[in-house]
Amino acid sequence: MNFRRFVSPTALFLWSCLFVLTSTPAHTSAKVRVAASTTDLASIASSVGGAEVDVFAIARPTADPHRVEVLPSYMVQVSRANLYLKVGLQLDQWADGIIDGSRNAKLRVVDCSKGITPLEKPTSASAAQGDVHPFGNPHYWLDPRNGAIVARTIADELSQVDPSHAAAYHDRAKAFASEVDASFKRGQAIVATMPVKTILTYHRSWSYLGDAFGLEIADTVEPLPGIPPTAKHLQDLVQLAKARKIGVLLQEPYFSEDGGKFLTRAAGVRVVKASSACEAPAAGSYLGHIESVLKQLAGNGS
Ligand SMILES: [Zn+2]
Repeated sequence: MNFRRFVSPTALFLWSCLFVLTSTPAHTSAKVRVAASTTDLASIASSVGGAEVDVFAIARPTADPHRVEVLPSYMVQVSRANLYLKVGLQLDQWADGIIDGSRNAKLRVVDCSKGITPLEKPTSASAAQGDVHPFGNPHYWLDPRNGAIVARTIADELSQVDPSHAAAYHDRAKAFASEVDASFKRGQAIVATMPVKTILTYHRSWSYLGDAFGLEIADTVEPLPGIPPTAKHLQDLVQLAKARKIGVLLQEPYFSEDGGKFLTRAAGVRVVKASSACEAPAAGSYLGHIESVLKQLAGNGS
């Protein structure tokens, strides 16, 4: 991938200056430096890495994770990292520009989709299907059980970079899997209170959440991923919502509000706005976010 496509010459020049001003030798700190594309991967890495790691996330949780601007400051941060955690399945292709630009030959790049069973793997990818991902739906972190798989992958990778703490990393990944079990049960209890377990979403970003907790996603406001709705498609959704008594549309804050407003007016559908990413790279944020989304869907959370 040619990262120059994404970066202007001025930005490149500024980046070079920044690099000279702020670069420090890679091993001034004993901590393992972990860069992650998203706050979710960063939060899981914090749970697994404990006090042995310094973790930061690139994409802001309130922004669209499919499209992140490649900034020189990200390259500088990644130039000092030991590990880079990618979502994979072509969600965060922008990360390649940051990784290339960091000129960090020692960086270990980890595809965290390793070991995940992707949903919605297309049989034939074509432009007519919209913005599809040929390897399947990349929003896998929204099933907390996949989070436990990611934790194991991260423990293996941290053990490669820092073998002296390998046992601690693997113990913490196991403890995290127990937290996932407990959180999953709480999530199931929240969903059990919902009289209608059929919802609408804006984009196909919540398929794994639905699959994990038995929520049926009857349709999406986007007729195809990345394609805005037509008036006809919105009319169809109104009919569907009425026929199936669907009361909720779940959508990220960065998508257009127009479709949701129309569905509220025409079919009384309540719009739940939630980012598909957790708030912070801190431990606990990842599972807390999934539970909070479920509470919002059930109508008893903020
Ligand atoms: Zn997507």
